[in-house]
Amino acid sequence: MQEQRDMEKHKTIHLKDYRPPDYLIETVNLEFDLDEKRTTVKSLFTVVCNHDKCEGIHPFVLNGKDLVLKSLKLDGRPLAEHEFKIDDHSLTLLPVPNRFVLEIETEINPSANSELSGLYLSGGNFCTQCEAEGFRKITYYPDRPDVMARFFTTLVGDQAKYPVLLSNGNLIGSGQLKDGKHFAKWHDPFPKPAYLFALVAGDLARIRDTFITMSGKKVDLSIYVQQHNRDKCAYAMESLKLAMKWDEETYGREYDLDTFMIVAVDDFNMGAMENKGLNIFNSKYVLAKPETATDADFQGIMGVVGHEYFHNWSGDRVTCRDWFQLSLKEGFTVFRDQHFMEDMTSPGVKRISDVNVLRVHQFREDASPMAHPVRPESYVEINNFYTVTVYNKGAELIRMLRTILGPAGFRKGTDLYFSRHDGQAVTIDDFLKAMEDANNTDLGQFQRWYAQAGTPELQVTRAYNAKTKTYALTIKQTCPPTPGQPAKEPFHIPVAVGLLDNYGRDLPLTLDRGTDQQADSSTIVLHLRKEEETFFFPGVPEKPVPSILRHFSAPVKVKSDLTDDEHLFLMANDSDEFNRWDAGQQLAVNLLLNLVKDYQHGKTPKLDRNFVSAFNKTLVSGMPDKAFQTVALSLPAETYLADFMHVIDPTAIFEARRFVQKTLATELKETFLAIYYTNQDTGPYRVDQASIGRRSLKNICLAYLMELDEPGIRKLCMEQYRNAENMTDRVASLATLANFDCTERSDALASFYETWKHDPLVMDKWLSIQALSRLTTTLNTVKLLMADPAFSLKNPNKVRALIGAFSSNTVRFHAPEGEGYVFLADQVLAINTLNPQIAARLVSAFTMWKRYDEKRKALMKAELERILAAPKLSRDVHEIVSKSLA
Ligand SMILES: [Zn+2]
Repeated sequence: MQEQRDMEKHKTIHLKDYRPPDYLIETVNLEFDLDEKRTTVKSLFTVVCNHDKCEGIHPFVLNGKDLVLKSLKLDGRPLAEHEFKIDDHSLTLLPVPNRFVLEIETEINPSANSELSGLYLSGGNFCTQCEAEGFRKITYYPDRPDVMARFFTTLVGDQAKYPVLLSNGNLIGSGQLKDGKHFAKWHDPFPKPAYLFALVAGDLARIRDTFITMSGKKVDLSIYVQQHNRDKCAYAMESLKLAMKWDEETYGREYDLDTFMIVAVDDFNMGAMENKGLNIFNSKYVLAKPETATDADFQGIMGVVGHEYFHNWSGDRVTCRDWFQLSLKEGFTVFRDQHFMEDMTSPGVKRISDVNVLRVHQFREDASPMAHPVRPESYVEINNFYTVTVYNKGAELIRMLRTILGPAGFRKGTDLYFSRHDGQAVTIDDFLKAMEDANNTDLGQFQRWYAQAGTPELQVTRAYNAKTKTYALTIKQTCPPTPGQPAKEPFHIPVAVGLLDNYGRDLPLTLDRGTDQQADSSTIVLHLRKEEETFFFPGVPEKPVPSILRHFSAPVKVKSDLTDDEHLFLMANDSDEFNRWDAGQQLAVNLLLNLVKDYQHGKTPKLDRNFVSAFNKTLVSGMPDKAFQTVALSLPAETYLADFMHVIDPTAIFEARRFVQKTLATELKETFLAIYYTNQDTGPYRVDQASIGRRSLKNICLAYLMELDEPGIRKLCMEQYRNAENMTDRVASLATLANFDCTERSDALASFYETWKHDPLVMDKWLSIQALSRLTTTLNTVKLLMADPAFSLKNPNKVRALIGAFSSNTVRFHAPEGEGYVFLADQVLAINTLNPQIAARLVSAFTMWKRYDEKRKALMKAELERILAAPKLSRDVHEIVSKSLA
């Protein structure tokens, strides 16, 4: 019996099994009587058959979880017990007429909801999270995205405790009731799936503004936060208005309701949620002022506010048919927010940071047992598929479409998509069809990007014929096997290429084959469709240096035979900012991997002079974009380096990187100091590009200098910590001090704690900085911090800040005796029943275990097996662990 139930619990759901719903819902009337422990939910909805005839043929199945059913009526008649079936995840009615009204009353306990899915309490206020399957924890309902209905929602609550009552759409009524209660009634005129439903009730401050849309309509904008946070909303509001304007200008999308609301809550599993007209945010992505938020926090806020707002069209007005299509809304919307931020900030630097996320996290996922296509074919727990593959690789696919169709063709495609499918729940195929129809083109081969998992690899070889003045690039594509996909068909890959002459200038380009190659004279997009193709460039006067995959035009790895000298040349001259940076990264990767080998073989490391002089050149270059200069001076991440190793050696990678940092600091100390001083902030704090760039350059210089481990530099760092007038500079100094066992470290950490212990978001930084410290005592510190009032196992931000950060501290997490592994497994098991989604995120740190040495492999495997054997393992954790061990 137990076996049977577990099989039901861990059942795999397949895309190929998709069937349209048997019944649709026209309108939903919800009435909530809010109470912390016993909230009653009365729902009344009109159900219609979705076939010619349903009566007597199709049962009506509703989802439901953790609900107490109080009453059930069909067309006003109470149903007897034999007229329905109920179990712990569904309610089934048979027979039902072709059209009927169903009334359900359920009771729920928001205060017991620690999963933060459905209706729950955060800071004493009610809020909801219904994506993906949280609505079924509110009432029985066909909780699937292809059932779209118009919602009326009435909230009743204690007026003193919950003066603010919010739901989706427009407010259509409100008033007093007896016993100190009051009510608010909301109507959302746009049909929507239940996952976009939201409600909020609480004692919240309201920050107001307005936006005039492109057709002259006035929209009320509101941000709701806890009273003490009302001075931290200005940047989020500014970001919202910029996003609304940008979506009108870039996509022709206008906002549709009279009001747009954002609510910030402290307890939230994800970043934010695009509920129609009522976005609910993790407070991390709303609250900011210079004293409490870093430059990165400000940029994160603008990006996430933009992302959720853009969903109003790409997600809400046009939604997903089923959860396999998640990338339809997420890949597209991530691309939209990336593009928005490129327009608002430094486009090259933004692109570099997005590619870094892809390379460090998504390529890693592709190489793990959890590898899956952008449109997965099966899942056990959908919450496990809110991944970097679905989101960030999904965004790269949209970017490639824009490259292939050109900006104007892409816009024609999105216009057609939005107009054709407004009010519908559709598929990725529908999106591609709109792109094809609008551009009269065939994207048949491109579809493989959605179906095949894995990171393709390009092998590029070149040949120059001096006699005919012809240059040839041969590109071969391969894609490694992934679970369930041993062999792959060739992808359609847009490869943007430029050729540089001896002076480093772009050569004007033409191509002598094919008609669909695009060129802007200096960059040409090659369309690689076969396994191997050769592209010929006529009229090339001298042997050029190729700049391949400009602007990272496809999510692939490139292997070329470029020499170190050619990388140096590109680093200095490439007109493409991304490739100029990437050439430097490639050089650093090669150098670091050689040093890693030296460490492994006990050789004394030596830093290549050419590398030092190239680094120095970048350091003194005085680039106008200092944010770009900073990324150009940053060494590749440890996790990125690990990707190049057959057997990952975290200790050797750590030592090699540290050696390079320290040697550079020793050799270039005076230059680092000079640049540190010339880039000090003057005047009040500003979040513009120039100021952000200056601060980032100054702070990277400080981090290098600290590697010298000199009292004078520590004093300088401590001065910056003490005198900082903004959180960016304060955190930068604290983070680097945290790596050294010194009195300045303990003084700064203690003073930070005293100053900020009342502010949970700032305390998250304090936790993370200590969890990321490279000191050998870090694990012990983390264990002690778990008992600090600043930490809570129930709050996802705290868990990510402390435990999540520790698991990304590669050298300490992978400590050779395995104590880091035991610690993480203990926490996964502790959080497993509390919040399965967050536990599953944490356990993902083990998925790459097979890539390590025998000893670490065995230690990680033992922890995975220990987790798997635990009683009451959630579906979320079970899926990741069992797939990792398979
Ligand atoms: Zn999203």
